[in-house]
Amino acid sequence: MKAARFYEVGKPLKIENVDIPRISDSEVLVRVRSCGICHTDLHFIDEGLIKPGKVPQIMGHEAAGDVVEVGERVKDVKVGDRVLIHFYFSCGECYYCRRGRESLCVSPEFQHFGFTTDGGYAEYAKAPARSIIKLPSQLPYDAGILVDAGSTAYHAVREIGKVRLGDFVVIIGSGGVGLCTLQMAKLSGATVMAVDISSDKLDAAKSLGADHVANPTVDNLYEEVRRLTDGRGADVIFELVGLSETMGRAVDILAKGGRLVFIGYSKDDLTINPRRLVTGELQIVGSRASSRYETVEVVNLVRDGRFKLDPLITHRVSLDEVNEGLDLVRRGESIRVVVRP
Ligand SMILES: [Zn+2]
Ligand SMILES: [Zn+2]
Repeated sequence: MKAARFYEVGKPLKIENVDIPRISDSEVLVRVRSCGICHTDLHFIDEGLIKPGKVPQIMGHEAAGDVVEVGERVKDVKVGDRVLIHFYFSCGECYYCRRGRESLCVSPEFQHFGFTTDGGYAEYAKAPARSIIKLPSQLPYDAGILVDAGSTAYHAVREIGKVRLGDFVVIIGSGGVGLCTLQMAKLSGATVMAVDISSDKLDAAKSLGADHVANPTVDNLYEEVRRLTDGRGADVIFELVGLSETMGRAVDILAKGGRLVFIGYSKDDLTINPRRLVTGELQIVGSRASSRYETVEVVNLVRDGRFKLDPLITHRVSLDEVNEGLDLVRRGESIRVVVRP
């Protein structure tokens, strides 16, 4: 089969012919029809900030497709099912998994599709049956992006950010996950400001329901947020960029008792004197991906027409064009690019 594999930081993925994965009795084999390109891929390919589990490795962690083979012990998934692959292959049995916090799984068997094991930039991919989510017939294969972009936003807004009716929410970084976070915050009843340096992304944010948008290269974010909140500041901020500059700005616009939620990160560190946390009762927290159950919830939101998927997909490329697709992400010219193997 054809696959796009990572070899070295700073080098393009190599399109190669490799063997179709062999499945165990608890796994399924999926003919991949769509796999989203995520900004996190650049943390491997450009920065070396995340190391793959092996080299070479097939990248891609937002995959959907058709089941073509199932292991002998697999009961709930059948050949012909249209499915998503939830990208955290958590064990289901450790302390964290049993408490529903699958993205924190500590099992030595924990694998991370497209991170520590072969992913979805390939014609075929294998996954444990328990990480498979059925795709309702109304949803296209490009719903693969929901396993990361959509459900990461759901988890961040609902579980970690605890956004409530009437909150003033600021989203710093309005790419794929940012626009999903925007939609989830709106569904939770918040007033939402989307922030980005790209006017195209801010236009997309407006069309997806942002109440306010701001471009920090031209707008004074501090003044704007104070003005819109009677001087209070933002109740919840989602940080999807993680650069020194954006992180510092986020702390400055947080209301007393407010919550700053990190979804994105870079090499940069956040420096803050704890006195600011104490005197303002500020909370600074991280949010990591989602559980399989949360992804099912997001799929249901799309099926019911409450969460918009189509406007998030701006480009479609073939597997041979995956490096061009990554270039679109690098240049910030896309919301979500999907590969169609
Ligand atoms: Zn991702
Ligand atoms: Zn576990």
